[in-house]
Amino acid sequence: MTVHFPFQNSYSALPDSFFARVAPTPVAAPRLIKLNRPLALQLGLDPDLLEMPEGAEILAGKLVPEGADPIAMAYAGHQFGQFVPQLGDGRAILLGEVIDRDGVRRDIQLKGSGPTPFSRRGDGRAALGPVLREYIVSEAMFALGIPTTRSLAAVVTGEHVLRETALPGAVLTRIASSHIRVGTFQFFAVRRDTDAIRKLADHVIARHYPELAGVERPYHALLAGVTARQADLVARWLLVGFIHGVMNTDNCSISGETIDYGPCAFMDAYDPAQVFSSIDEMGRYAYANQPRIALWNLTRLAECLLPLFADEQEKAIAEAQDILGAFSDQFSAAYQAGLRKKVGLFTERDGDEALIQDLLDAMAKNGADFTLTFRKLGEAAGDDAADVRAQFMEPAAFDEWAGRWRTRLAAEPQSASERRTAMHAVNPAFIPRNHRVEAVIQAAMRDNDFAPFEELVKVLARPFEDQPDYAAYADPPLPDQRVLQTFCGT
Ligand code: AMP
Ligand code: MG
Ligand code: MG
Repeated sequence: MTVHFPFQNSYSALPDSFFARVAPTPVAAPRLIKLNRPLALQLGLDPDLLEMPEGAEILAGKLVPEGADPIAMAYAGHQFGQFVPQLGDGRAILLGEVIDRDGVRRDIQLKGSGPTPFSRRGDGRAALGPVLREYIVSEAMFALGIPTTRSLAAVVTGEHVLRETALPGAVLTRIASSHIRVGTFQFFAVRRDTDAIRKLADHVIARHYPELAGVERPYHALLAGVTARQADLVARWLLVGFIHGVMNTDNCSISGETIDYGPCAFMDAYDPAQVFSSIDEMGRYAYANQPRIALWNLTRLAECLLPLFADEQEKAIAEAQDILGAFSDQFSAAYQAGLRKKVGLFTERDGDEALIQDLLDAMAKNGADFTLTFRKLGEAAGDDAADVRAQFMEPAAFDEWAGRWRTRLAAEPQSASERRTAMHAVNPAFIPRNHRVEAVIQAAMRDNDFAPFEELVKVLARPFEDQPDYAAYADPPLPDQRVLQTFCGT
């Protein structure tokens, strides 16, 4: 029996300038580390067959399944504000697309599968550590209900990749509703290829925004649609303490999914200025800067779409500005609504925003753990404030705030237990804490032990449930366990 992939490819039918046809480079000794069985089923793939040796060969790029049309996608991008006219998939190859069980078109892409015409000086490969990291964090994001690319599989290649030292090589199978980025539009805009921009925009509308197909100004509506999804996405990131780390325009998905888990991290103690990425020296992509950067990226997208707007340049710019002007309110509405839920409010009143900001300020001042403070606030909605108080260096700071919070809660009819349940449904107990992710990677690399990886993935799949057997996974790092920096996943 061979594994059947029900491919229905559409991107590779676009003009040749959109991609380069290139097959994955075979590897020595592929071995499956992890298969995401529920996701395989969702994609119409047979997980039992994927777990056979042939499956590992496909997922490592050694064997190209029938019906695949392997391509590396072309794109450009602003990296830390600097424009690079050609980036492209330098170490990723799109095998093709399948229609999943819900009728959604999904890309199946191998990441780390060998060089492509876009590799520049890179080797086209990925190391095991970053592959495990992306698997863990992307699946955790999914479980948190945040739009994201998914991880279907991780395989080791049996080869080494040379970084600062020789590291085990690996391939991640990434699933996305598409891999089209702001940078894909920029690739054609810098080449003044308006025809390609229109074709790309039409493809995106058909694929991600089908409701816009018949509207009067579809390209304006497309910019508005991408803007709304990015505003919502970044609000969701902030509400779980996520820091993407490399919000370059080539890592900004048109579909509104979180994409490219390189030096990303969840923060432990709440600090709006938090940065983890070793290469983000200026704090461009700091936690609280993410909404501003999303808007900056959307502005780059708008520039690409201008030729499809009004004929007159000034008028086109005004139209784009008008659409982008909605971002700030959309973001704030999503963020504030999320925060109100996090503190257990069922309704909206004047003064809520200031009340919640006071909590965040007290958390920042007191080194309070972001995730645990909100989780334990659920208990405090009843009478048990001990755990949440303990998050604050000076618990009195919490008490002062909690008095005002309780007064506000009293204006709503819900019982303490109803409120606690609602709060626990939005405030996770378990996030992929950096020190846990690092420990898992170390066990895999040092001892070839993947049991800690399996366990972490399992716990993070149910982030909103108390899992008493795994309670330690909810704990913040001890001072000597703290991971202060993350590195670009290569
Ligand atoms: P990223 O920082 O992951 O968004 O990647 C930026 C660009 O560098 C993309 O064009 C990648 O395809 C490319 N790239 C990253 N790592 C490698 C590698 N090991 N080999 C070839 N290209 C790479
Ligand atoms: Mg990238
Ligand atoms: Mg990357």
